[in-house]
Amino acid sequence: MENNTKKIKSIISSHKEEIMPGIHINVPFPSTDLRHVSPYVLLHHFGPFEVNKQNTFSFDPHPHRGFEAVTFLFEGEFEHKDSTGGYGRLSGGDVQWMTAGSGVIHVEKQPDEFIEKGGIVHGIQLWVNLPKEHKMTGPHYKDIKNNTIPVIEDNYIKLRVIAGNYKNKAGPANTYTPMLVIHGAAKAGTETTLEIPSGFNSLIYVTKGILNISGSKTAAGQMALMESDGSSVNIKSIDNSEFMLLAGEPINEPVVQYGPFVMNSMAEVKQAFLDYSEGLMGSISN
Ligand code: MN
Repeated sequence: MENNTKKIKSIISSHKEEIMPGIHINVPFPSTDLRHVSPYVLLHHFGPFEVNKQNTFSFDPHPHRGFEAVTFLFEGEFEHKDSTGGYGRLSGGDVQWMTAGSGVIHVEKQPDEFIEKGGIVHGIQLWVNLPKEHKMTGPHYKDIKNNTIPVIEDNYIKLRVIAGNYKNKAGPANTYTPMLVIHGAAKAGTETTLEIPSGFNSLIYVTKGILNISGSKTAAGQMALMESDGSSVNIKSIDNSEFMLLAGEPINEPVVQYGPFVMNSMAEVKQAFLDYSEGLMGSISN
């Protein structure tokens, strides 16, 4: 192995969280052992599961402040509506990058006609922290369609660059701190070396199949957390696999996450609850 190879710090298995009655999702962090991997504060891996009239996966209006909520939809459909008047629909391969900033109220659900006929939903919601200076920026969101995401094909491994730069391809997401977000799909038996800027925190979360990451077996629902030293990581696909590479420059500021808010202090979180209860985060019009 080369000297610049990143070492694996640990392989972390998700715990299951019942996010709504009967709906269990995979959560590698936050947990009591791992609060966050700055700038990432939460990873919810949902599905693949069947959504229909009996089993819905819908979130009624709720607020967020102080971070960005990013939804990577691998399969199924999603519908978004928010207090800025924003509306968006995602299909498999699409990404929604929502900057909650000073405050947003949104609804996340499947479109009515999807629920009516039923179908498989699979994806990730990732919370990306905002640095203190941008926590109160105005809320906005960007729908990133599958066909606008640059793809690099490397030895039967497909890398979709969603944020940051990779091999001269720029991801369509606009970020507030430097990061690299790649969705990868690797056929069984393939192998490559991923380049990650040294000094970035980084992890590879497997959503399907099994990868061997720098010698450590990592299966669906697990993630490899890497040391920040080093700039490359070798991956071998043991099965047809899919994964998210999440890397980023750490934000060295206090993180206080409580419910739907991610701030720098408990006083700011309390203020967020107060502002929300007083209607200062707006409302959703029909
Ligand atoms: Mn939400």
